[in-house]
Amino acid sequence: MAEGYCVKCKTKKEIAEAVEETLKNGRKAIKGKCPTCGTVMFKMLGGRLVASAPSSPSAVDPAASTETSTETP
Ligand SMILES: [Zn+2]
Repeated sequence: MAEGYCVKCKTKKEIAEAVEETLKNGRKAIKGKCPTCGTVMFKMLGGRLVASAPSSPSAVDPAASTETSTETP
């Protein structure tokens, strides 16, 4: 089950007839269509969603990794 954004309905929709594809750059994506209007939807998979280009090399926050490693007592 995959969810994507339909530009025509301007809302999130569950991608109908979703097919997983691997792009040339090795990334995976889901391709399908909007169940409501049939507009082709495309959702990138894998990796982190980078909305903006990293402006500083110190993007890795050590405090963030500490939060995720709370399994260790
Ligand atoms: Zn739609």
